[in-house]
Amino acid sequence: MLMTTEIDAIREAILRGAPGEEIGALPLPTTARGALVKADEQEMFNGLDSADKDPRKSIHVEEFPLPELAPDEAFVGVMASAINFNTVWTSIFEPLPTFGFLKRLGRESVWGKRHDQPYHVIGSDASGVVLQVGSAVRNWKPGDVVTVHCLHVDDQDPSSHDDSMMATNQRIWGFETNFGGLAEIAVVKANQLMPKPAHLTWEEAACNALCNSTSYRMIVSKNGSHMTQGQAVLIWGATGGIGAYATQYVLNGGGTPVGVVSSEKRAEVLRAMGCEAVIDRRAEGYKFWNDADTEQDPAEWLRFGKKIRSLVGRDVDIVFEHPGRSTMGASVFVAKRGGMIITCAATSGYTIEYDNRYLWMNLKTLKGCHFANYREAWEANRLVCDARIHPTMSKVYPLDQTGEAALQVHHNLVEGKVSVLCLAPEEGLGVTDEATREQHLDQITLFRRMAV
Ligand code: NAP
Repeated sequence: MLMTTEIDAIREAILRGAPGEEIGALPLPTTARGALVKADEQEMFNGLDSADKDPRKSIHVEEFPLPELAPDEAFVGVMASAINFNTVWTSIFEPLPTFGFLKRLGRESVWGKRHDQPYHVIGSDASGVVLQVGSAVRNWKPGDVVTVHCLHVDDQDPSSHDDSMMATNQRIWGFETNFGGLAEIAVVKANQLMPKPAHLTWEEAACNALCNSTSYRMIVSKNGSHMTQGQAVLIWGATGGIGAYATQYVLNGGGTPVGVVSSEKRAEVLRAMGCEAVIDRRAEGYKFWNDADTEQDPAEWLRFGKKIRSLVGRDVDIVFEHPGRSTMGASVFVAKRGGMIITCAATSGYTIEYDNRYLWMNLKTLKGCHFANYREAWEANRLVCDARIHPTMSKVYPLDQTGEAALQVHHNLVEGKVSVLCLAPEEGLGVTDEATREQHLDQITLFRRMAV
């Protein structure tokens, strides 16, 4: 006779759409399967170039013990999760192994101590169903169908009570905390929960929160560049994880995106999204930073600026910057007088050089930005729920192949987002609003169809 495990029962109840009382009464297992890296392997890639560090070797999918739930937390049965670039950083132990983050969290409180383990369950996105809630949780209950954003913040810290991204103990869940989303069951704070868009599948719903919220803050929010109608925005990696949401926000907000990509296939995806000004950086052969020299090449910045003017007739108001070392010199140069370069990352290197004369003489602003506060994440999620912003999922992997999925992102081999099925047994499940889905099907599936 086949044994039914607690996890099987949870999966079966979620797939059946069981009522909250039934889900809340289900026994939880003592362990769950999750994608994790191990502290005793954090030096395994020492001496290798980044490109040679292989997430398939460092990410293991194994059982881990579920911790006790804190009063302000929830257990979520994760139907699907997604790969983010922070999954790549964790798996290649760059720029630092994440175990130091867990140790620091462990020193903060009794509940923080649970995170300090010799394993790190990773993942900063999830869609699923609330299984149990802690005693202090008011707004959510077992059975609620949710997505999860990754801002982990302690609301007893006074610095968190304006813009919570300014909190001194602000962390990214599943990167700077343990028990992340690439698992059958995740531990989240109740203030990370948001409603799942009913017209999306589990895997489509799981891929948005981290990148969508980040791009919302960078483009839309007053905490970011606060783009207004008619502004032109240069978007690096315009079909990538954050870039593809930035492109949608610029178009939705009445701006003009100038999208940079590195292949004709990506240029086609970008045009299909409605972006008319497209630059294929590989075809144009730009070399902003030549590592053989230590100097950047201002002639290349000029050539790039001319290309932008040829496409949109003027300089850009905003640059959506994240590649970092290889592009920042050009980004600072091409922003218009008084324009803004808004940056949230440095994929190609965080030690950056640019010619400061172009910044100060032309009164430009270089602004740092990081994820999003709960309100921003909620607004960004609402736009997905309202089918005004669409998922950019191009590939789906099973949980067991998380390492391969991370490798694809590490090597810039995928467009948009890569999702991972956790409890969901197959793709295509979880839709409860078929009418909205039908109405927007082309946009919802654009990346999945075009990025093959
Ligand atoms: P992604 O899915 O890999 O997309 C990045 C895109 O950038 C790629 O598609 C690529 O597009 C472009 N790119 C890569 N290297 C480049 C280079 N040297 N020069 C020009 N373009 C380059 O990654 P993502 O999810 O968008 O994340 C991008 C970065 O933002 C990562 O470093 C990530 O850690 C960071 N991030 C930060 C936050 C935050 O809250 N601070 C949130 C999300 C992501 P083409 O090759 O087509 O040009």
